[in-house]
Amino acid sequence: MKSFLKNLRYAGQYTLLLGTGLWLLTACGREKSSQYQSVDTAMGTVIRQTVYATQDASEIMAGIRREITTLEDEWISRRKKSSQIYQINAQSGSEKGIDVPEYLLQMLENIFQVSEESGGTLDITIGEAVRLWNIDEYAVLDGSGSADVKEVQEFQVPAREALAQALERAGYEKVKTEGEKIYLPQGTTLDLGAVGKGMACDEVLGYLKEQPAVQGAVITIGGSILTYGQKPEGGAWKVGIIDPRDTDGYMGRLVLEGQWCVSTSGDYERYVEKDGVRYHHIIDPSTGYPADAGLISVTILSRDGWLSDALSTACFVLGAEKSVALLEKYDAYAVMVEKDGNIILSPGMEQYFRAE
Ligand code: AMP
Ligand code: MG
Repeated sequence: MKSFLKNLRYAGQYTLLLGTGLWLLTACGREKSSQYQSVDTAMGTVIRQTVYATQDASEIMAGIRREITTLEDEWISRRKKSSQIYQINAQSGSEKGIDVPEYLLQMLENIFQVSEESGGTLDITIGEAVRLWNIDEYAVLDGSGSADVKEVQEFQVPAREALAQALERAGYEKVKTEGEKIYLPQGTTLDLGAVGKGMACDEVLGYLKEQPAVQGAVITIGGSILTYGQKPEGGAWKVGIIDPRDTDGYMGRLVLEGQWCVSTSGDYERYVEKDGVRYHHIIDPSTGYPADAGLISVTILSRDGWLSDALSTACFVLGAEKSVALLEKYDAYAVMVEKDGNIILSPGMEQYFRAE
């Protein structure tokens, strides 16, 4: 009994000491936190990092980049043989099913759930139709992360029959999951282009949480942005929303405290103009043609990156009115811009959005 009490007191002292140490560290950490910035490319897009840290952040920033490239190379790349998605696609048609690690299976189920709730407007099986359009080939990324697109003469609108055939092989509802397996019909493939940047935000968030030196960060991965923690001087994060018809400027900003994800899908990001018609990269799975539901930009605010990215694509195809019900189901908020420049805020977004 005596020794038990002694142990208890020791434990108490130790906790107290550790507690004080932590408090001191945090206090002087706040004073010394500095800003570190970098710009580079990964996942076929521009990565911008702003990190507030109590020590030199170059290794942390390299770690963030590693998280993004690992997600791409080992999990979701459609082109790299090393990736899980590549391996799954290569086995389409397998009757005994394809083994999928739990992380990816759970993610695919989450995505299919959004497809279901959004009337199929988000459909990660329409990659073949996307590639018939081949918009990415023509839309060249400039340094700002938005596409710098010229009138392209060689661009061809795909033949109607070819699109119809591609859509026949597509359809998220034909894909089944069971236990640890996925069943993909022959010729159906998965393409996570619409959710990958958001998934990367989630991976980066997990990494940042393990970095005690990081007090706050804003990480931009193409059209998806993660905010994390706080600025050393306090005050909210301000995330600009690009003006879809003057892409060097902003139409407004979101004023955010702490951790959020913001994803934008817009018809200005990757597009081709031919004979006065703008063909952009977001395809309506019900027609095979670029979505035309009256919106030119959709920005989603959510706690989860994969979800903000999934919803930005889904809502762009769905149109403003139907999107409101979908957003409510997922506790997410949207800023939607109509063709005539009207800005629509979904319920709840007014507390975060400020017009420029
Ligand atoms: P985002 O910019 O997040 O809206 O994603 C657009 C990308 O996702 C495109 O470049 C295509 O690779 C792919 N995509 C286009 N339309 C759809 C759709 N309706 N559902 C799923 N993926 C799509
Ligand atoms: Mg998206």
